[in-house]
Amino acid sequence: MRPYILSESNWKSIKEEKTEVAVLTWGATEAHNYHLPYGTDNYQIEAIAAEAGKIAWDKGAKLKILPNIPFGVNTGQADIRLDINLNPSTQLVILDDIIEVLNRQNIYKLILLNGHGGNTFKPILRELGLKYPKMLLISSNFFDVVNKYEFFEEKGDHADEMETSLMLHLKSELVSDLKEAGDGKERKSKITGIREGWAWSERQWSMVTADTGIGDPQKATKDKGERFFIAVTQKLANLIVEVSEVEIDNRYE
Ligand SMILES: [Zn+2]
Repeated sequence: MRPYILSESNWKSIKEEKTEVAVLTWGATEAHNYHLPYGTDNYQIEAIAAEAGKIAWDKGAKLKILPNIPFGVNTGQADIRLDINLNPSTQLVILDDIIEVLNRQNIYKLILLNGHGGNTFKPILRELGLKYPKMLLISSNFFDVVNKYEFFEEKGDHADEMETSLMLHLKSELVSDLKEAGDGKERKSKITGIREGWAWSERQWSMVTADTGIGDPQKATKDKGERFFIAVTQKLANLIVEVSEVEIDNRYE
């Protein structure tokens, strides 16, 4: 039993403990090129949260990791079979219910650990922060915690060298031979602003990539995945410790 994981905790320990910060992971269920499983984002974010939580717990943080939410925003992949979409407005309603429980039970800190690029929690947390003014709501994308290009060579953001390396480290039994993988080539927009990154439009996945991947996975290794995992979980552990310790009313220097 890992005492920082809610699913593994029992009422006897929960009754006696004070939880300072709840950690909620949010993934997605979607195609990841030909070689990674649909649950990739969930496996990754759950493993990252569990390791960061362990380090933080050992440093005295009073945290509980809530069960992962396995479906994310996949609005751009409507035609990719069995990509399960939750709309952003559904995410708002789910988060509202979870935060209402925390708020009512005097657990005023929530860290939302995001494992999927299509999930965008900032506008949702702005709105719920207004509704629950006592709550300290924080979100972090695991893929933004460190500069991934210090660990990986190939550009990409989906089933790429980074995700493939991470999965080789965490769940190698679920990674197919890389000979199976497509090259993850991304077709660029004809619109200059979008291509240059200063204008945005949701990518229509099946127009952008032939194999559902974005980024060539061929240079992925277990070793790279492990180094990245350690770097990310150490920083996230520090985040959890600092959030656990901070006084909400006195959180600015
Ligand atoms: Zn992914």
